[in-house]
Parts: sequence; structure tokens; C-alpha cells
Amino acid sequence: MRYVDGFRLPGAAKALTQELARLGDALGPRRVKLMEVCGSHTMAIARYGLKDLLPANVRLVSGPGCPVCVTDPGYVDAALALAERGAALATFGDMLRVPGSRGSLADARAAGADVRVFYSPVQALEWAEAEPDQAWVVLAVGFETTAAPLAALALEIRRRGLGNVTLLTATKTVPPALDALVADPALAIDGFLCPAHVSAIIGARAYLPYAEEHGRACVVAGFEPLDVLYGVKGLLEQLVAGVARVDNQYERVVRWEGNPAAQRAIARVFVPVDAPWRGLGVVPASGLALGPGLADLDASVRFERPVTAGRVNPACRCGDVLKGVIEPAECRLFGAPCVPERPLGPCMVSSEGSCAAAWRYSGRGAR
Ligand code: SF4
Repeated sequence: MRYVDGFRLPGAAKALTQELARLGDALGPRRVKLMEVCGSHTMAIARYGLKDLLPANVRLVSGPGCPVCVTDPGYVDAALALAERGAALATFGDMLRVPGSRGSLADARAAGADVRVFYSPVQALEWAEAEPDQAWVVLAVGFETTAAPLAALALEIRRRGLGNVTLLTATKTVPPALDALVADPALAIDGFLCPAHVSAIIGARAYLPYAEEHGRACVVAGFEPLDVLYGVKGLLEQLVAGVARVDNQYERVVRWEGNPAAQRAIARVFVPVDAPWRGLGVVPASGLALGPGLADLDASVRFERPVTAGRVNPACRCGDVLKGVIEPAECRLFGAPCVPERPLGPCMVSSEGSCAAAWRYSGRGAR
């Protein structure tokens, strides 16, 4: 049964829910844990109450699928330090209220720092051209989906000969994070609901190691509610059958080999480096730094302010939320005092953060 058209048909949702119940029964006494690794999945699951439709022996938890949430507080600290030196910061809006060790970009802006929000990074070049005497730093945060346009941005800075723009990179790649998750036996993840947008870049084949070497069921799924239910059904079918493979259930967007042009653009500009992830620590080769020949575009080199580990709020349990160890509501700060208007951790900041999604659709947060 395919659900390519009509993503929200109640009849289809009911049929899928019945199939999920049957598969839950087929698992017998076994309890399984599935993880979605995509902020858009997280939002859809919370918004449509999809967890309520799963069998009791199937737990669906959120993973490190929100790039803002996994960004280390040290990155925010480095950005604030550059602002203190007079740099103007250009960022996606999601980063504004992420807490660093000593405040957020929003705090700095309120105190007079020049922090501007773009809808597309190329806007930063227009600002930089309009103010050529001002040093501009683009906050380059995101996964592979964002890495491709950031690579294009770096090349465009070069093409335009702009000497007043640099990038502070915290760009990350998803597969190394999956490596870290499967390496931790305590997490006991049986299957991954693989991301939608990221997979359009890296391709479904990127998940083969997690199926073939680590025995994890993998399904690439879209983020409409029926996509998610259909993806969970695909994962349970693998678990019931005792197999582990990569199924691409999002063929209308994701190809097996991904987007080779975007992959080439990323490889042309960036090189893999070890990078800190909130909750996972330093993950080998999981970050993207500007490659040889582009070091002068690297803000941490130009301003001699390398990104170092920051200090997290010890009571914030974003790290555990991002590994699916706890549900957001299990954090004692959830809802009081931590709410989207006054976030104490990044998972409550981003619209794709697990805590923000859980709060927004809990019936207590504003929609
Ligand atoms: S509720 Fe707030 S403090 Fe608790 S884990 Fe989520 S973001 Fe952190």
C-alpha cells in the first residue's frame, strides 16, 4: 500500500494504525525502541499525536535531528566573542535564543550588538556589500541540507571578492552521529526513522552501514503524518521479520544516491573535522570546516577565536533528550521555568526541538 497522494486521509491513517497494531502483536513480548533523527519528523509526531497511535510495545524517541539543538554552547560563546570585537553577525533566526555559557545572541542584540537574521545566507552578502567597512560573520549552522547552500555561499564570497565576510562553522553531518548512537549499547535503538531533507542530499544508501554492519532497521520517510506512520510500519515489518535493511519510503524526494551535485559542492568547500555535539560529546569527523584554500573565510581563523567547549546549564537535560534517554516532559524544568519564551536549553528554542514540539502540542503551550 502506497501513500504518495493524500497524506492526511483519515481512512489511510486508520488502516495504518490497524497494521501497526498487528505488527505490535507480532512482536510478542518484545519491546522495541525506534528513533527519528529529523526535526521535521519530531514536529509532525508531536503535532499529530502520532505516538498515541503506536502499539504499547513500540517506543518512538527523538534523536539528534535538530541542528540548532545539537550545537554546543561554546559555539554561541565564540559568536558572542566576535560580536564583542565589533563583528556584525548574520544568522538563521533559530539560533537567536540558544543559550551559550553567558547568554544568547538575542541578549547580545538587546545590549547593542549587530545581530541580523536572514532567510537565506546570501542576504548576508548584500549586507556586507552595503557596509564594506564592517566585518561580517555568517553563523553557519546546519546539517547536510544547509551545508550545500553554505558551500555555494563560500564560493560566492570568493567570486564577489568580499574581504569583509567570514563564516563561523558549526555545520555537521548526520551519519557520524548515527555511528555514535549505535556504538552506545545502553541506548538500545532497534531502528532509525531516517531523515527526510538530509537524505535528499546524502541519499538512502548512506544508511547501509547501520543496517548491514549494525543490524538496525532503517527507513527513509517523509514528514507528513502518513509518511511517518508508514515509515514506522516499515521499521516494524523489518523487526518482525528479523531483518535489517534500508527501505526508501520517500522516493518522491530522496534518491538512493542522493544529490551528487550537492555532494560535490560540499566536498569542494568543506573538510570533515571532529566536532562537539550536545549530548554526544565530540564525534569524530562529524563537522564540516572550510577546506584548504578557504581558511581566510573561516572566522575562527581570521579572528583567532577557535570554538571551544562551552558550559551547559547543569539542570537542562537536552543531552538526554537528544539521545532518546528521556522524554522532554521528564526534565524537571519542562514547562516551569523552561518554555519557548524563556528557554533554558536549545531543545526548547528551535521550532524543531523536541522540548518545544512537546510543549507546543501538549495543550499547555500556545500554538
Ligand atoms: S525542558 Fe528545557 S531545560 Fe529541560 S531538557 Fe528541554 S530545553 Fe533543557
